[in-house]
Amino acid sequence: MLYLHRSLRPRPQPVPRDARTIHSSGQSFEQLRQSCLQSGTLFEDADFPASNVSLFYSERPQVPFVWKRPGFWQHSEWLDVVIDDRLPTFRDRLVFLHSADHNEFWSALLEKAYAKLNGSYEALKGGSAIEAMEDFTGGVAENFQLREAPEDFFEILEKALKRGSLLGCSIDTLNASESEDRTPLGLIKGHAYTVTGLDQVNFHGQRIKLIRVRNPWGQVEWNGPWSDSSPEWRSVNLEEQKRLGHTALDDGEFWMAFKDFKTHFDKVEICNLTPDALEDSALHRWEVTFHQGSWVRGSTAGGCRNFLDTFWTNPQIKLSLTERDEGQEGCTFLAALMQKDRRRLKKFGANMLTIGYAIYQCPDKDGHLSRDFFRYHASLARSKTFINLREVSERFQLPPGDYILIPSTFEPHQEADFCLRIFSEKRAVTRDLDENTDIDLPELPKPTPQEEETEEEQQFRTLFQRVAGDDMEVSAEELECVLNAVLQESKSLKFKKLSLLSCRNIISLMDTSGNGKLEFEEFRVFWDKLKHWMDLFLQFDVDKSGTMSSYELRTALKAAGFQLSGHLLQLIVLRYADEDLQLDFDDYLNCLVRLENAGRVFQSLSVKNKDFIHLNINEFISLTMNI
Ligand code: CA
Ligand code: CA
Ligand code: CA
Repeated sequence: MLYLHRSLRPRPQPVPRDARTIHSSGQSFEQLRQSCLQSGTLFEDADFPASNVSLFYSERPQVPFVWKRPGFWQHSEWLDVVIDDRLPTFRDRLVFLHSADHNEFWSALLEKAYAKLNGSYEALKGGSAIEAMEDFTGGVAENFQLREAPEDFFEILEKALKRGSLLGCSIDTLNASESEDRTPLGLIKGHAYTVTGLDQVNFHGQRIKLIRVRNPWGQVEWNGPWSDSSPEWRSVNLEEQKRLGHTALDDGEFWMAFKDFKTHFDKVEICNLTPDALEDSALHRWEVTFHQGSWVRGSTAGGCRNFLDTFWTNPQIKLSLTERDEGQEGCTFLAALMQKDRRRLKKFGANMLTIGYAIYQCPDKDGHLSRDFFRYHASLARSKTFINLREVSERFQLPPGDYILIPSTFEPHQEADFCLRIFSEKRAVTRDLDENTDIDLPELPKPTPQEEETEEEQQFRTLFQRVAGDDMEVSAEELECVLNAVLQESKSLKFKKLSLLSCRNIISLMDTSGNGKLEFEEFRVFWDKLKHWMDLFLQFDVDKSGTMSSYELRTALKAAGFQLSGHLLQLIVLRYADEDLQLDFDDYLNCLVRLENAGRVFQSLSVKNKDFIHLNINEFISLTMNI
């Protein structure tokens, strides 16, 4: 039985040492172990049975697999996925990941735990080893092509080792048949090596940079310069040889010159660990900040900068860098953007979305940046590509200052949750630039005395008399009749029909005298408001579609005095927009009437404290009936 610490899912809080149990029996590892010991049986995991269900979700197996238990297995301290020790085999060989030592089942059991987390082995296809490594450590992976490695790559690797990061390196293969080919100098192509050390030695009066690499097979080593028994070592004094732990053991571990490493290897992967994954307090650590968010269709799923009209609606995260790196001008940080739980959802048809991010210099004024900002400002830095990987990470060095990072999917309207992690050399502060809800309602205008009315106002009085009839008051039915007639006239507004209920809402908003009808003055104030809202609709219907898209609506609402949080905007889109995320004028009018009603009620009740109101159940229900 293996009990794995699932710390890899990013969490906003430091990962607690006591891992969360995820076995369906509700039993912890200790309890499961105890019951196995008592009954003298080997553990069988009913949650992840030894059958094809656990291997595949769509493919039929080509061969009959036999599930076997390995002769011995290893314990690790880091466990919280409980699995049994049955592994899928065919002709007595492990089917999936295996190590050269046929008795070493550690990696295979790890993979099984990982497969269980993700539902089946097939769900792992297309994932990389580093992704599994990330998942088991909570770290962030970085990929470097050695051909394009930065100038200070030796220093980057040195720092990575000091931070306890996991380092892998490999040689590319052109095709699958080349995989595991041995080069004349003893290196294996397409094979995952680890980097275990860096150092410098005095050699004929020069400082030579060396790197120590390990072949996880525990054998087959580099035989070029600085390898175990190479002549270079004879010119290095014994003390230095001792410091470097130079031995001629065929243990898979060897030194090579850093410059040879750069020409013979193609790729280096660094898995940067979060401080909570490191036991050793002496290690240097990254400062890590977490940020969770979502891309929601119609409100925050804005797509990349190619889509200027929607890009600005993405979540915007302010990043403040205050302290320079030790002895450096800039501040180094890694920004890692991860889409959440897509691998698990693969079974249900969810593929990885194409994701990435851009970084802008923060302007002086605070708050969510608008479309115009992005129209006139270029990004300062960005992820190299938008790519359909679970995580996109990139290293940057920027001068101290405030920046805005915008995570997005490539295409707009694509939904996912995401997690953004910033690994920084010195402390960095991140903050979501979501808007606070802030409602700014104009004072209702004072009535004009009848004798001072302009000609236009007198004409309006005539209109009112026609609408109101003999009682000189407009009922909901009368309002419904006149509004639908007027809106039908307009060619630039699409609208379905304003219902009687909507008209009752309008009356509820405008009826200051409380008789359920609109007198002349009330009707006049409403008519001005209607005209203003129509003007805003025409102004912010940027594409002149006659409808308001959810994105256009956001700006229009702000201009109408309603600055809303991302969450409220999402609710409004759910309630009023159609499946193409469009609102006709009647939906738009309903939305504004309701918002203004709610805003006015809140204003009148929050006299003492501008941010809160206190209501009992009776007050609350009667309030909802009025909005
Ligand atoms: Ca060796
Ligand atoms: Ca009235
Ligand atoms: Ca439009």
